[in-house]
Parts: sequence; structure tokens; C-alpha cells
Amino acid sequence: MDITYPIQSHSWELLSPTVCIKTMDKSAFLYGGSGIPKEICFFFEMTSDQPRREISLIHAGTTFTGSLEPDALDTRVRIFWRGGLDIIIKDYFPSELTRFQEDSPVEHPPLLRFTKGAEPDVFTIELISQELANNTPPVIPEDLEVAIARKEGETSTIVTTVRKRSQANRLAAIKYHGLECVVCGFNFEKFYGPLGQGFIEIHHVNPLHEKDGEREVDPVKDLVPVCSNCHRMLHRTHLTHITIPNILKK
Ligand SMILES: [Zn+2]
Ligand SMILES: [Zn+2]
Repeated sequence: MDITYPIQSHSWELLSPTVCIKTMDKSAFLYGGSGIPKEICFFFEMTSDQPRREISLIHAGTTFTGSLEPDALDTRVRIFWRGGLDIIIKDYFPSELTRFQEDSPVEHPPLLRFTKGAEPDVFTIELISQELANNTPPVIPEDLEVAIARKEGETSTIVTTVRKRSQANRLAAIKYHGLECVVCGFNFEKFYGPLGQGFIEIHHVNPLHEKDGEREVDPVKDLVPVCSNCHRMLHRTHLTHITIPNILKK
């Protein structure tokens, strides 16, 4: 069967056979669970006529217990992450917690990113802050944003437009690729704890200033998450992130 990605349904988005994003709403955020629409269920390999079963949810190296359950009233399936991950999510997003509790609108709600590995019923979970993705300045000036600004002329309108575009691309890259360094696998949160939550640098595989003319950035192909060390090395060597792991092996 040929499947075209992304698949969107309600607050769920399937980006690839192995990556699924849930945009947190009030009930998912406060009560540690969510309904999974029919179109998305196959990602979790669960149907509404199957009995409840436990799943493992790995967040920053710690395994939490969750569950997949049939919805008694519906043909849908439900997922729960109440084994402690629900508390971590609330801890990480205190202002969103307050807003959800008060029933105030949350403009950019947190995202829950599920990655499926080879083992059945084991999912890696990453918490993505859309606020952080929107407010993170570029760390390495050679990358995306400044490169275009320099190219197009340094008026503030252009910089603002470019910044908005690059922030959207940055978020799209994190949604697709996650928060781990594609070169060495470093995970800031795993190493630094809450301090590292949501932190990653984004590297442009084909820097714009090396290209002729305007080109749309494809966040999946052109942007990759890298740790700060690997990012520096990439700019030092001008090697791609594909060749760096080969060097590390030698
Ligand atoms: Zn790295
Ligand atoms: Zn870079």
C-alpha cells in the first residue's frame, strides 16, 4: 500500500512511517492522554477491537509506561502517558499549564513527538516547544538566516520576513528530525537534564550563499539538527553530516 505523508487528522500529524506529532490540547495536556483518529491508528498498530495494552515511552533516556486502549463508545483508540511523563510535560511547560487550567487560549501549544523504533510498542518521546522554536536566535551566523539577509540587503523588513521563514523551517526540521544530533546522537536534555530541554542547533546542509538565486528551503532535506560541537566541525570542514559519522568510525 502506498501512503503519502504527511497525514493530518485533528491534532495529529504523521510525518513519516516512523514519526508522529501530537499538538497538545487542553485535555491531552491536563489529563495525560488523547484520542487517536482512525487515520493515524495504524502508526500505533492498534485498532478499536484490540484489548488494552501497555507501551513503553522513552523520554530523555528514561522509560515510562503508557497504554493504548480501545474507546468504548467509538471506533477510535486512546493513548495514555500517565506513568509520570504527564507530570514532566506539565513541569516543562508551566505557562502553558496555567493557561490550559484557566481555559485561556494557548497560541503555540507544545508538541509531543513520537518516534517508532524496530521494537513493537516502544516509542521515543520528545517534547517540542513551538515558543522556543519561534524565539531561538541563530547560533551560527553562517547559517540560513543571516546568509539570506546579507544576500537580499539588510533592511529590517527583509530580516523580519526571513526570520519568520527560518523559524517556521526550524520548527519543521525539529518536528521531522527530532532533537538529537544527526551526526553523533547527542541529546542535550539527556545530558543536561531540564537545562537542555528543547535545545538543538539547526544546520543548513546546502548553505544558501553558495547557491545562485533564490531557492525554497526544504526543512526535511536541507536542515538537520546537530549538537554545538558537530555544528562547529561541520562549518570547519565543510563536510556534510553524512560524511562526518564515517570519519568518526575510523
Ligand atoms: Zn553531535
Ligand atoms: Zn550550520
